[in-house]
Amino acid sequence: MENNVTRNQKKGVKRPGDIPTPVQIKEYLDSYVVGQDEAKKTLAVAAYNHYKRIAHRGNGNPGSNIIGKSNVLLLGKTGSGKTLLVKTLAKLLSVPYHVQDCTKITASGYVGSDVEDCIVGLLRNSGYGREASERGIVMLDEVDKIKSASAGRSVTRDVSGECVQQSLLKIMEGDIVGCPHQGGRKNPEQPLFYVNTSDILFIASGAFVGLDDIVARRLGAGKNRIGFSGPGNAAGTGAKDKGELLSLVQPCDLREFGLIPEFIGRLPIITSVSPLGKDELLRILTEPCDSLVNQYTGLLAMDGVKLEFTPESLNAVADRAIELETGARGLRNILEEVMRDVMFNAPSMRKPRGREKCVVITEDMVRSYSLGMRVA
Ligand code: ADP
Repeated sequence: MENNVTRNQKKGVKRPGDIPTPVQIKEYLDSYVVGQDEAKKTLAVAAYNHYKRIAHRGNGNPGSNIIGKSNVLLLGKTGSGKTLLVKTLAKLLSVPYHVQDCTKITASGYVGSDVEDCIVGLLRNSGYGREASERGIVMLDEVDKIKSASAGRSVTRDVSGECVQQSLLKIMEGDIVGCPHQGGRKNPEQPLFYVNTSDILFIASGAFVGLDDIVARRLGAGKNRIGFSGPGNAAGTGAKDKGELLSLVQPCDLREFGLIPEFIGRLPIITSVSPLGKDELLRILTEPCDSLVNQYTGLLAMDGVKLEFTPESLNAVADRAIELETGARGLRNILEEVMRDVMFNAPSMRKPRGREKCVVITEDMVRSYSLGMRVA
């Protein structure tokens, strides 16, 4: 795996031999992202097939022309690792990526981002390399917020989400998009970069609040049986809670939610991440190679200070993150708060005679800091 991974990190995935296998992709994702095995497997297969198709076409393999695009829909609660998965995947494959907030896109003619901004962002992130951009990944985040006005009761957008879905169709399928050099708005005097979007991998994502209810209704579970406990779970589906209902989503549920059939059709692969429980939050704090605990320990080590977290302190951080309901995103906010004074004082700390400089983060420290924290 090492050879394959390091090789394609240098060159990008251009030849069939450069593409890591789905197992290798999953292993790499495992070192940064805790849990979410189903989403990892699905993304690994989708990315492998996507880049294999491109690489074999470059080789003149006629079979590659009959293979459709593997755009993905990634569902799940905020802060559970969707963006991290996409970012890590792009890093492994050494392709540029851009996260486009779909709530910023407006149908043409209105003030706001054009749909082409997805590609402009990708171009920017690739250092304006057209070839690299054409094999990049665009994450269409908050895609649930561009649902059709007619489908939801609580529509806050003045511009219909359906128009935005319509305008995304072409670039998701494959289009030539004219992008201004070095970003900025289009103007008639400015030469344009033309980017072919046919080989860009689109990963749409969103929390899709309420979609679980739609799935439960379809499965005949009825609202009152969601979130049930005990062995008799939703409609005998094997789903344990609301989060897991998202793993059972079918295109008809997305349609009822407010995505138009053509848009759903551009996203043939559907997968979901599960909400993170306390065990996962604790693992996120310490396990990934770039975990928060490793980052803070490394930062303080540069000042010659040994940093330790008691197990109880980490427990308290995870508890607080659960209260904040922002998934793993809350972990960083909490630790930033807890660590601020430590990091302020550490560089000027005196070395105790005969001992190394050491700071221990305790449960009390976490609980007293987090008491004052705002609920985001
Ligand atoms: P989402 O896109 O689902 O809203 P993100 O991927 O942006 O969430 O997660 C926010 C932050 O929380 C990430 O940068 C990462 O530090 C952390 N995080 C979230 N989920 C995980 C996970 N499963 N494993 C490791 N870290 C995670």
